[in-house]
Amino acid sequence: MAAVQRLLRAAASGGAATAVARRRMASLAQEQAPSAAAAQKGFPFAAERMRGLPAAERNVQWVFLGCPGVGKGTYASRLSRLLGVPHIATGDLVRDELASTGPLAAQLAEIVNQGKLVSDEIIFNLLSKRLKKGEDQGESGFILDGFPRTVKQAEILDGVTDIDMVVNLKLREDVLVEKCLGRRICSQCGKNFNVACIDVKGENGLPAIYMAPLLPPNNCMSKMTTRADDTEEVVRNRLRIYNDMSQPVEDFYRDQGKLLEFDLPGGIPESWPKLLHVLNLEDQEELKLAAA
Ligand code: AMP
Repeated sequence: MAAVQRLLRAAASGGAATAVARRRMASLAQEQAPSAAAAQKGFPFAAERMRGLPAAERNVQWVFLGCPGVGKGTYASRLSRLLGVPHIATGDLVRDELASTGPLAAQLAEIVNQGKLVSDEIIFNLLSKRLKKGEDQGESGFILDGFPRTVKQAEILDGVTDIDMVVNLKLREDVLVEKCLGRRICSQCGKNFNVACIDVKGENGLPAIYMAPLLPPNNCMSKMTTRADDTEEVVRNRLRIYNDMSQPVEDFYRDQGKLLEFDLPGGIPESWPKLLHVLNLEDQEELKLAAA
């Protein structure tokens, strides 16, 4: 973790430091045997290896990929509770910064509200600070959500640490747009809800999908807010940017044999047990209770 934090900070400072991170990355790439070795470290061995291990020894270093609205935050945070590792969402770090009175806030608002990607320098900076805070608190491992978002980010990450597994969540695009537009956040407790009721028929070889709304309890109801980047125009822009900039990251990890593709079959009641099953985690009753 310390190495990750140091090198991400080096990458964040740009210029020569980024070149150092890249050189380190290049030398690591040469040291490592190609895809067979990578596959040994990746899915499904990662989940298999940590069976029964205490949280501190599992050292999960996972990445969640997927389009905006697919549910990365929902499943990554459930797994983080289950496995006792932090869920680190770069979108949350960006929103925390936006909500602050710091010098970056105005600059970030313009970028984020148009659905564009924030510069690598800013993202690495926010991530470094978050990792340092976690390290000081004795955190071990992580589930990254929303990072890496570009091949360059993936390459730098690859140069500084060993990602065990990458879960790629998938859902059809019309459903993604509906889900983003239905997203609500309680301004008081910060919990996420969704007022959209997804009920699409199976057609053209695609399966039917039903996702019940995730409605807030009464005490949150009057405090619902919507993200400024969840308007239809911005969501479509974010999806375009995902396809251009982030889909190549899927190929990057697919080539390393680390990518676990997961088509969401429906809402949380259908998808969560199935995800636990493909991760070989479904029989961990005691862990299940911890995530409840
Ligand atoms: P998310 O909550 O993951 O949809 O992220 C919200 C916004 O934060 C994105 O639309 C980007 O503007 C920014 N962001 C989050 N993660 C990254 C990243 N890894 N690289 C660049 N921008 C990011």
